[in-house]
This record gives sequence, C-alpha cells and structure tokens, in this order.
Amino acid sequence: MSSNSDQDAIVAQHLCKTVGDAGARLAVLDDVNLRVTRGGSLAIVGPSGSGKSTLLGLLAGLDLPSSGKVFLDGVDLFALDEDARARLRATRLGFVFQNFQLIGHLDALHNVSLALDIAGGADAPLRQARDMLARVGLAGREHRKPGVLSGGEQQRVALARAFVTRPGLLLADEPTGNLDAATGARIIQLLFELQRQQGTTLVLVTHDPELAARCDAVLELHAGRVTPGGAPEPAHRSEPTEPSLS
Ligand code: ADP
Ligand code: MG
Repeated sequence: MSSNSDQDAIVAQHLCKTVGDAGARLAVLDDVNLRVTRGGSLAIVGPSGSGKSTLLGLLAGLDLPSSGKVFLDGVDLFALDEDARARLRATRLGFVFQNFQLIGHLDALHNVSLALDIAGGADAPLRQARDMLARVGLAGREHRKPGVLSGGEQQRVALARAFVTRPGLLLADEPTGNLDAATGARIIQLLFELQRQQGTTLVLVTHDPELAARCDAVLELHAGRVTPGGAPEPAHRSEPTEPSLS
C-alpha cells in the first residue's frame, strides 16, 4: 500500500488486535489495511463476529490496537496521548451507533448540543443544535427525551449529534440495525444527504448489501482478516462537490 497522501481522510496500516492471554489468544483483527479519500465512503461488511465493530472502534481511537497504525487526516492517532486523541475525536469525528446511545436524561436538543460543548468553541450551541434537529426532521421535538422518541426518531437525534460538529469523518456501526426496513431506508437517505452536504468522509458497518453498494468501496472481513479482493483502494472520484445546505 502506498504511503499517506493529502487526499486521505483515514488510513489504517497493518492493524492487528489480539485478545485473551497466552493460554487462549484470539486474533480479532489480523493485518487490516484500508484507506478512504476525503469525501469518500467505505462499507465494512462481514458475518457477525468478524471484527467489524472492533475495527470501527480502532478507527475512532476508542480502542488500542495490538499493532498497526491509524492516520486521521495524516495524524498518527496512536502516537497521541489519550487527551489529545479524545480532542481529535470530539472535533473531527462523528460516531453513530446501532443502538443510538443517546443520554436518557437529556432532551433531544441537549443530546445534540452536548457534542458541540465537548468539541468546544461553538458559537450559540443551542441554536446550532436546534437547526440541526430541524434538518433531520425533528423540529418541534427538541424537548423530548429519548424514552418518548421512536427508534427512527432516536437515530435522527443521533445523526444530528454526529453531524452538528461538521466532522470530517463519520463512523457508523450498523446504523439501521435496530430499525424496521422503511425507517432504516429513511435514515440511510438522510445519512447520505448529510454526507454530501457536509463533504463528510463516511465509514459504515452494515449487513445490508444494498447499503454497501451505495458506498464507493466495500471491505469484507472474515474472522478478522480482509477477504481477498475485499481490500479497497480509493474509488476514483470526481472533484468533491461543494456542500450545499438546504
Ligand atoms: P462484529 O462487529 O463483526 O460482529 P466484533 O468486532 O464485535 O465483531 O467482535 C469480533 C470478535 O472478537 C468476536 O468474536 C468477539 O467476541 C471478539 N472480541 C471483541 N472484543 C473482545 C474482547 N475485548 N475480549 C474478548 N473477545 C473480544
Ligand atoms: Mg458489531
């Protein structure tokens, strides 16, 4: 694999993750390489237990690899100390989980504005959070707590929270896994719309072949290894389109 280029939003080199002790070691990830150019999209697919979530956690710097490197916008993620890594995550990365992971005692508005507070330096975070909630179709529901929102609405709040900081990279782990098909399709539509408008790079884990096919490239994992032929080089894209917010 060639070295980092300015165009790469994220690069993983020789990522390995081993768990367990000397008696019973399990290679959860074994020599995974990938790169995604800025504004591009990558789907990670593979059977349950193949290491998809572990890989996503490493790409986000939420977990440490046994060996290997991740570069986010050219920054060597695991060469940073934990505080610097957390800062980078708060300012440049969005994460969407299968099970939403909203904060139960905060209303939708404050779930979203919290992301801006953590990133720091935001001008009028409540107004920005309100605008973002309107953007995902939740105007008028700002003051509802997650417990009284449907699954689809909760995932909209999670999308608003992930996109409100305008992250360069958005990671999503089976974002439609807990939604019915119709609701899931609307969430995916919204996810790609926001990606296009903000020029975000997208890495998502999915079981859905249709969703994977909408991404520029697909990486297939099997028992922690990239399936031969499943290692993506960046798809050649035309000039990134200027984000146009509607
Ligand atoms: P996927 O998201 O593809 O379903 P995961 O990344 O969640 O897969 O897990 C891959 C495998 O690694 C599973 O067999 C899981 O049980 C195992 N695993 C992941 N993390 C740990 C850990 N910290 N300790 C032990 N086993 C783990
Ligand atoms: Mg998983």
